[in-house]
Amino acid sequence: MRILVISDIHANLTALQAVLEAAGSVDATWCLGDLVGYGPDPNECIELVRSLPSLVCLLGNHDAAATSHISLNAFNYDARLSVHWLRGVLKPQNMSFLAGLPEKYVTHQVTLTHGSPRNPVWEYLLDTHTAAFNFDFFDTHLCFVGHSHVPLAYLALNGTGNVECQLFNNGDKLKLTMRAILNPGSVGQPRDHDPRASYAIFDPEEMTWELHRVEYDVLSVQQRINSLGLPRRHAIRLAQGW
Ligand code: ZN
Repeated sequence: MRILVISDIHANLTALQAVLEAAGSVDATWCLGDLVGYGPDPNECIELVRSLPSLVCLLGNHDAAATSHISLNAFNYDARLSVHWLRGVLKPQNMSFLAGLPEKYVTHQVTLTHGSPRNPVWEYLLDTHTAAFNFDFFDTHLCFVGHSHVPLAYLALNGTGNVECQLFNNGDKLKLTMRAILNPGSVGQPRDHDPRASYAIFDPEEMTWELHRVEYDVLSVQQRINSLGLPRRHAIRLAQGW
């Protein structure tokens, strides 16, 4: 069984299409939120994700910001600009799709959230200390998160209470014996200095996690960002993966 795990598409349709093509046939797709924000193709990305069979999709912080009247103080200047643009261009049916997304979804093996099990939409898991606290906030063997845009795993070392961080490169495969919090990286805005789109394949029968990177036409996305008048920084960073 192959479950495609993706996150942080950030309105980058070209990267999303490249990931779906590279992943090939899958039994289900789990999307961990942030379909929109930063990129030029919010409606197209939502419509493509919605069309995927056996989809589970979670709410990300950018999805929440686009669909509610929450304060944007937690966002930097460029991110705020793109949220304002987004609120103006989202089609009503896509806005209500985002507004209806759950903050958490639990299967018998896996808890899914955007940020962390403790604070599903907003908390970043950027270090082993914060990750260790979060193991008390889910009951399943595994938890899948996005939000940091870095493909990695936090592994609970058996019986010690300690947590180890493992980074992933293209093609790395992990047997999921320990409790773990796993991040598939970002489809549309990688931040680990590898500009290729990132995704994972989870096999719940074999209990394996496989990380993949795929190249896409970054230049065409940069051109759309610039022609829409969105912050140039959002275009520049795509070429370098930050
Ligand atoms: Zn994000």
